[in-house]
Amino acid sequence: MMSLCRSGDVARLTATQPALAQTTMTTTLQPRPEDNNNDSGAGPFTFFPGKPRWTRPDRVLTYAVSPTATADHLPPSAVRAALRSAFARWADVIPMRFLEAERYDAADIKVGFYLYTDGRCDGCACIDSDDDDDDGDDCEGVLAHSSMPEKSGQIHLHAAHRWTVNLAADTAPLAVDLESVAAHEIGHVLGLDHSSSRSSMMYPFISCRERKVRLTTDDVHGIQELYGANPHFSFGAYFKQDILSRIQQMKKEKKKKARGSSFWQRGLALTCAVIVTMIPLPLSLNKLL
Ligand SMILES: [Zn+2]
Ligand SMILES: [Zn+2]
Ligand SMILES: [Zn+2]
Repeated sequence: MMSLCRSGDVARLTATQPALAQTTMTTTLQPRPEDNNNDSGAGPFTFFPGKPRWTRPDRVLTYAVSPTATADHLPPSAVRAALRSAFARWADVIPMRFLEAERYDAADIKVGFYLYTDGRCDGCACIDSDDDDDDGDDCEGVLAHSSMPEKSGQIHLHAAHRWTVNLAADTAPLAVDLESVAAHEIGHVLGLDHSSSRSSMMYPFISCRERKVRLTTDDVHGIQELYGANPHFSFGAYFKQDILSRIQQMKKEKKKKARGSSFWQRGLALTCAVIVTMIPLPLSLNKLL
């Protein structure tokens, strides 16, 4: 499940969320430290109780977008493209394949947009934790919910929200990026529960107009603990761009700092460094060298 939040509003939103009834659907509860039941203890990523995962020997799961439970303002082809891209992000890192089913009824994972009636999802009758936002007029509330493995896979997107597949073209201030939320819900369908790491795909909150489609090391470690690594995946290559941009950023900041200090300051620092190295080392240190 994923909720909207204004940044800095997470604690309040979480505190006011009543617990969901225990159903086959995932809950909105924030992961507590004792929920962190991953074997390696490596990350903030968590699994569902019993660590369920899909065990198909052919490692293929099919999905389909409902032909009837649609989003009014989005063409079905755009919705399908966003889903295809979201599934591909997970397929890049684990040895699973996700194929679009020809028949909706036959798909392992069924995706649709649903409204809530009297606080219950029209698609599965699960209870929305905050049914007061059904007009979608503020940047809060539950965006979607999904099932966990290996139940019949479902991703239900809350139809009241302003879903978009192109934030650049859709200037609505409350627009919610479909691919970002779909990628999060796919993580649940595959067996990941929420992560407490803010940058993680499995962090339970996202802001309006936020695009978050890249898996982090936390997500990758979590999902690979369930399914193993895609043979074509390497951490170095996958996160190369992240690492390069971080180095670029560090270089920029260093340059800025260097420009800020005067020639004399730099000269003095250099002199100090020379003086320090000129001091004879104590005997014990010399031995170590
Ligand atoms: Zn979630
Ligand atoms: Zn539902
Ligand atoms: Zn809502």
